[in-house]
Amino acid sequence: MKNGPKNVLVIGSSTGYGLASRISAAFGAGANTFGVYFERPSANGKPASAGWYNTAAFEAEAKKAGLYAASANGDAFSAEMKAQVIERLKKEMPQIDLVVYSLAAPRRTDPATGEVYKSVLKPVGAPYSSKNLDTDKKVVNEVTLEPATEDEIKATVKVMGGEDWKLWIEALDAAGLLAEGCQSVAYSYIGPSVTWPIYKDGSIGQAKKDLYAKAEEIDALLKIKRGRAFVSVNKAVVTQASSAIPVVPLYISVLFKVMKAKGLHEDCIEQIQRLFETQMYNDGCLNFDDQGLVRIDDWEMREDVQKEVFEIWPKVSTENLLELTDFVGYQQGFLKLFGFGLPGVDYAAETELEVPIG
Ligand code: NAD
Repeated sequence: MKNGPKNVLVIGSSTGYGLASRISAAFGAGANTFGVYFERPSANGKPASAGWYNTAAFEAEAKKAGLYAASANGDAFSAEMKAQVIERLKKEMPQIDLVVYSLAAPRRTDPATGEVYKSVLKPVGAPYSSKNLDTDKKVVNEVTLEPATEDEIKATVKVMGGEDWKLWIEALDAAGLLAEGCQSVAYSYIGPSVTWPIYKDGSIGQAKKDLYAKAEEIDALLKIKRGRAFVSVNKAVVTQASSAIPVVPLYISVLFKVMKAKGLHEDCIEQIQRLFETQMYNDGCLNFDDQGLVRIDDWEMREDVQKEVFEIWPKVSTENLLELTDFVGYQQGFLKLFGFGLPGVDYAAETELEVPIG
């Protein structure tokens, strides 16, 4: 891509859309990247968590390509982590021109009060019943979810809203680390009406509303540097975060079937590459919807795609799951998150569990 990002900080860089942002910036634009993530290192003969190895592999490939790549493992919500990253950035990288905020976390300790908040994935206001897929048992069933309490909604906003994104930008700005024209992007999801009670209108949706409001505040801050901040609404993909949301794995299985048949299938990297190439680094021409959001879920939300998804939706049952949906593709995607099912890998071979990250 021409005139892409040059010095990039990705917060939530080890898996999913954050890792895809890092890969697209490095290998699509030749950017230096610094990644922040929270993964379990290998200990007592047990393997590290998948994102650890993703990061090690990314760094090795980036260095081979002559690109600076360094990472910090720890709680991005903490003041200590922000200070540690800022110290390293000051020494190791030129000013940052892109900050990607791609955290998906189950809990957050408020750095100001020490209080721990836990996010929930629940509807708001009323119980929600829907067709659902038990991905372990491969059974299509019905799920009923009780609504979140006021406290649970507040906690979800604390964890998955925009407060921490803003704290990062303010801290980076105060340290003089943001370049003229610096951009910052965070990610969201909207999806079709069948998932709204659990997503867009659910507890996570309230957190995303807070993210949109904070995007405006961060945008005002970055405008002083002729930069900008915004939220990109991305398509549904298989990640550890999305697999935890009720109803969504069934919707994704149907969606993949339809989008693959139409030649429209995209995974995280294709999405972010398209965001960078056609929007963010395309002579600055971001297309905003009427809510001020950038939409790269446009292919998912295409009328013909959604029409076919919802012709299939009422018909899906345990018996016809493999025929009517791409559950096989969903499962392959899920296994791939943990490094399984890749061609050319001998899974019986001895392997080194402890792999260092720079
Ligand atoms: P993911 O689970 O694949 O990645 C989450 C990342 O956050 C990982 O790198 C993890 O290490 C990091 N992380 C979690 N807690 C942390 C902490 N305390 N400190 C530091 N790092 C921490 O998730 P994802 O699906 O890629 O989600 C990223 C963003 O994209 C979220 O805002 C999500 O809502 C959005 N999104 C996801 C989808 C989807 O279908 N998966 C669709 C649209 C938007």
